[in-house]
Amino acid sequence: MLGLDSSELKEVARACGQPAYRGDQLARWLFGRFELALDKMTDLPRAFREQIEAAGYVPGELAFVADRQTPDGTRKVLFASPRRGTLEVVLMPHWPDPEAARSDPQGIRPERVTTCISTQIGCAVGCAFCATGFSGFQRNVAAGEMVEQVVRMQREAGHRISNVVFMGMGEPLLNYNDTLKAVRILNEEVGIGMRHLTISTAGIIPGIDRLAAERLQLTLAVSLHAPDDILRDALVPINRRYPLADLKAAMKRYVTRTSRRITIEYVLLAGVNDSTAQARDLVRYLEGLNAHVNLIPYNATDAQFEPSRPEAVEAFREVIERSGRAVSVRVERGRQIDAACGQLRRRLAEGGEAILEKDPARAREAVVAARQARSAEQGKALTGAKEHDGAGS
Ligand code: SAH
Ligand code: SF4
Repeated sequence: MLGLDSSELKEVARACGQPAYRGDQLARWLFGRFELALDKMTDLPRAFREQIEAAGYVPGELAFVADRQTPDGTRKVLFASPRRGTLEVVLMPHWPDPEAARSDPQGIRPERVTTCISTQIGCAVGCAFCATGFSGFQRNVAAGEMVEQVVRMQREAGHRISNVVFMGMGEPLLNYNDTLKAVRILNEEVGIGMRHLTISTAGIIPGIDRLAAERLQLTLAVSLHAPDDILRDALVPINRRYPLADLKAAMKRYVTRTSRRITIEYVLLAGVNDSTAQARDLVRYLEGLNAHVNLIPYNATDAQFEPSRPEAVEAFREVIERSGRAVSVRVERGRQIDAACGQLRRRLAEGGEAILEKDPARAREAVVAARQARSAEQGKALTGAKEHDGAGS
């Protein structure tokens, strides 16, 4: 039922022989009060509640499996779905004074509360450093399951959830219809402002164009992670289908159509994509695009990558800032609770439920090979330039 908007809930009421306003009452219970037990919806006639049940509609269906929490209130919950698989959801309160929050999290109000939800179980894109990608693709998450992730976290949160980021497991633009349905329900029914919703994509161009045509005021985040095709092919394999030049053109179309700035996400991996030369390449790549850069500290999975050292992060940030482009470094949260996407699920699956493994060592090898190919190419370009100079002199 959480995947139905109020006009569809009115249809459910009508189909049960009830007046349409019963559908609105239902919507108020679900999206206004986050009530998921039909028998607690006391102003609905018992007969109607029984009819709803008999028709096979359920308010919510996710079962709690496990959760972890850090002192700053970051919380990660793993839910099991009767449709198959487990889903990770993260709740992050952002405090005006993090120290005070640590000592008395109940005593002060967070500035905002963000929930990070999953749009697929597993992911087919298979980025080299991502724990979700390691387990392959299992299935799409339905719109109602996406909304339920927010509603379930809201029931636990204690504070009103103000922001939702579609940045958990999965590639939202490869599950386009359900993701957009969830966006609309969260905005129109739950009342979360469109500008407080963020969809993060690995760069699925047809999805970006479809989203641009909707002209929504949500935030689009694009996971770039590399400023050249050779490295990006190795880190984000979908780059082979949607290479950087095409991706930039799609992002420009998006900005033109929606008048919204794009967020560029860039996970910093030590010795792989974090040199100042790569920062300069990134600056060049982004020229003429209205985009803000968000540098993300790598949350170590077992893919044999390492997070960049703080000095490297700072030097990278500075190059971008000096170019005049807005840049931020994401505050790292939840490392202790495996809050990187796919991590908790993966940890719990170890030794239990069998999940398809990608070989982390091979992922690393692919990146090393990509870097060698790139330096060879640069070497050739340099030699070519010298030869050219020679010929001219
Ligand atoms: N599939 C979408 C959204 C889910 S991933 C996408 O790729 O954008 C959300 C973000 O988390 C992406 O930017 C992704 O690159 C990043 N991410 C994945 N694994 C990570 C890790 N171990 N540490 C830090 N960020 C990670
Ligand atoms: Fe999929 Fe995003 Fe993870 Fe890449 S980073 S494997 S696109 S979830």
